[in-house]
Amino acid sequence: MRKKFIVGNMKMNKLPSEIGPYIERLKPLVKDAEGDVVLCVPSTNIQNAVLHTKGTNIKVGAQNMYWKAQGAFTGAVSPLMIKDLGAEYVLVGHSERRQLFIETDWSVNKKVAAALEYGLTPIVCIGENLEQRAHNRIEEVIIVQLSLALRDIPKHDIHKIIIAYEPLWAIGTGQTPKKEEVNEIIGWVREKIRTSYGEKIAEEMIIQYGGSVNATNSKRFFNMPEIDGGLVGGACLEPEEFAKIINYND
Ligand code: PEP
Repeated sequence: MRKKFIVGNMKMNKLPSEIGPYIERLKPLVKDAEGDVVLCVPSTNIQNAVLHTKGTNIKVGAQNMYWKAQGAFTGAVSPLMIKDLGAEYVLVGHSERRQLFIETDWSVNKKVAAALEYGLTPIVCIGENLEQRAHNRIEEVIIVQLSLALRDIPKHDIHKIIIAYEPLWAIGTGQTPKKEEVNEIIGWVREKIRTSYGEKIAEEMIIQYGGSVNATNSKRFFNMPEIDGGLVGGACLEPEEFAKIINYND
């Protein structure tokens, strides 16, 4: 039985000096959470976040990285640096990275491979835009994104990867698909994993939903059998609201 996995994506929010107080407020509220909790913070905040989450059930992740370990790549942050600071996860291919920073399926694949090589768990974001949805291309789009993200990743590493299904039109808009639709789409993703890598890996694989998840709708989504928790953007910025999402069944 898969555990629910709830990830906060703080995006470009919170100063390094603000992340400690935020975590101190979140900690007692989620200490009995049934699922796994991860906070993906800006790279500048990883060190403080790791310090403040030490000994708790909250893990820390980065929101992006380059795929090389070191070298002449001005401005980039490497998987080794993230790992050395104590983060355990990294978001890969978030739609904001794909749209605003011209990240491609090719670079997503390089980052997935690098994350695994350096012992980070990649959380790979896939999802259709409104036009693709209007043309009934959801399945085709997400299966292509998934296949390219996982290209040449050895079978024995596949179960370590987390997938976040995030329809672009639902991110930061307050609009969401119906829970039944998300359940079906995640089912397609799992079926693709099943046909490519077998039943065991498909059943182990964490596949989340992301897009305007909040304290009011989290229970609705997370109680669906295929939806293994969520990737939460805006609603993770207030610890009280994020805690309600994490404790969705209380
Ligand atoms: C996200 O950043 O991945 C996200 C889903 O954002 P929001 O929850 O604000 O829609």
